Amino acid sequence: MKPLSELSSREAARLVAVATDLDDTVLDHGRLGVDALTAISLLGDAGLDVLIATGRPLGWAEVVCRLLPVAAVLAENGACAAVRDGARVVTRFRATEAERRSRSARLDALVAELLARVPSARVTDDAWMRATDRTFDVGETWRAPAEHVAELIAIAAAREARTSVSSVHLHVTFEGDDKASGIAWLARELFSLDPTAARARVAFVGDSGNDAAAFAGFETTFGVANVRLARGLSVPPRYVARRERGLGFAEITRAIVDARARERAR
Ligand SMILES: [Mg+2]
Repeated sequence: MKPLSELSSREAARLVAVATDLDDTVLDHGRLGVDALTAISLLGDAGLDVLIATGRPLGWAEVVCRLLPVAAVLAENGACAAVRDGARVVTRFRATEAERRSRSARLDALVAELLARVPSARVTDDAWMRATDRTFDVGETWRAPAEHVAELIAIAAAREARTSVSSVHLHVTFEGDDKASGIAWLARELFSLDPTAARARVAFVGDSGNDAAAFAGFETTFGVANVRLARGLSVPPRYVARRERGLGFAEITRAIVDARARERAR
């Protein structure tokens, strides 16, 4: 991972949007600080659209999309989104309604099995707002031991469910999308970018294991400093901030905005 000072003005200038994770990237232990909020506004002022790409539920995404100056919020690690459409916010899904209904029934059966076989498992308190995945708390209200997480993942894998781990939650799903494919979907819908163009023109910022697909899927990728502590992170970001969480996000947006200004001054 390289320091932000190595971001070239040319690389920053070709961007049209910045996609970012939410928990422990923009948020500080679940709270939005003034530096991170200002940073999102600065990206808009610099001509960049902001996409949030989170493992949080679609119900959260709708509210965040209404409150913050962002184009869309990708939710549940890529399976659905809340998208700004004029004065309205609309919800979009990758799967058909029939597919979602059948996967939802399989998910509920899997959650019942996981709770029966792993008595220490804790369903997250935002699970009731979820449309396409189910989640277990592994770092939000307690620090789950690695073997606890591994046991849940092994049982889910035996039922052919996909899993991913963020700093706070273990996700189980029967959807095929991840943050990378979800961001590429939104880039096509919102900015008319094909996947190859999106790879170069959408930057990604994140901190943990469920961000690995996006770290691999986009060329200009950033981690806040706490990315160094991520568990299950198969692909690191190209650049890393010196500061953690919201302050790291502000540091990254400043580097992008300053590099774009340098390119314009050339
Ligand atoms: Mg995160």
